[in-house]
Amino acid sequence: MEQPRHLRGDRYRARRRQAVGRNQQGRHRADHSADKERSSGLHFHGGTAARYAGRTRRRIAGLRFGLTILGSNGAVPSASRYASGHLLHSESTDVLVDCGEGTQLRLQAAGASVGRISLILISHLHGDHYFGLPGLLTSLALSGRTAPLRILSPPGLRDRLAPLLELDRYGMPFPLEFIEHAADDMTLVAEVGELEVYAFPLRHRIVTNGYLLREKPRPATILKDMIEAHSIPYAAIPTIKQGSGYTTAEGRFIPHGELTAPAPPPRSYAYCSDTLYFPELSNYVQGVDLLYHEATFLHDMAVEAAEKGHATAHQAALVARNADVGQLILGHFSARYRNVDEHEREARAVFPASTAARDLYRFTVPFTERNSE
Ligand SMILES: [Zn+2]
Ligand SMILES: [Zn+2]
Repeated sequence: MEQPRHLRGDRYRARRRQAVGRNQQGRHRADHSADKERSSGLHFHGGTAARYAGRTRRRIAGLRFGLTILGSNGAVPSASRYASGHLLHSESTDVLVDCGEGTQLRLQAAGASVGRISLILISHLHGDHYFGLPGLLTSLALSGRTAPLRILSPPGLRDRLAPLLELDRYGMPFPLEFIEHAADDMTLVAEVGELEVYAFPLRHRIVTNGYLLREKPRPATILKDMIEAHSIPYAAIPTIKQGSGYTTAEGRFIPHGELTAPAPPPRSYAYCSDTLYFPELSNYVQGVDLLYHEATFLHDMAVEAAEKGHATAHQAALVARNADVGQLILGHFSARYRNVDEHEREARAVFPASTAARDLYRFTVPFTERNSE
């Protein structure tokens, strides 16, 4: 498997570990306020200022990267736990990941702006992951949408939806593009806004894609004091940002690394539903900030889970630990469990930064940058 270039290297891993520490601190604080927030249906996770290379990092409001859980049940929806759906918020666009029955109602309940959605990712063609599409697409058409929309899924989705929506007879009032892809390795499948979208294979009863969404790398930040110290003209800054050094009027070469601070690490989120446990999955999701991994069952049902192509909370936590992720989010719970606290306890015994998703929970990954002071 070829990893994305920005996943490689010791420097990245060192920064990831710092980020993980931040998120875990954030988790503990979030725990104290969780009960209050549960009553409002919202649950926020976040980090705090941390130190990087001796310089202060700070949280910048507005550059958002967050996730809203739209549904956390597997197979059949219930009044309190809808079928699968996540909404990833980024600065310039939102991405909907799976669209189980009732997802558009959950989008309304979350206060989401459906017009911001430019890409829909469907993991596989079991109904609990895409039966919400006909209703959502119809509502988008009725709302007067004109912006293009892409839907990425394993093969076969368009053939199923076309008769229902009469796509070949009437089409939609906005450009609708189906991209059908069965991932057999980590593959870049789309770019949308500031995000790169990768697909990778899961192991389920039918062809199933996992997805990884990662911010595109940002350019390095030029250090103001270096601009002044070397009288660097404005025109030279773009090439320095792209990786060049600078030669002063006296002919002295200043390397790129001395002129700049490294860019903040790209934030990332991976979606793994539905799948049985397989240790190699950790390689695909190595170091992500938010990992969603299905936990249909508790571990006392590990045999049944594997037979059905599903995983347990314990197994999800093993993947999270081996992949050194920031936070683990569990979901796709079997309807046999009225309460999912035990899923959370089981996962935390292996990986402390684990949360059992509840519908309308929100998770955030703060943006940090080097302070110029
Ligand atoms: Zn499912
Ligand atoms: Zn399934």
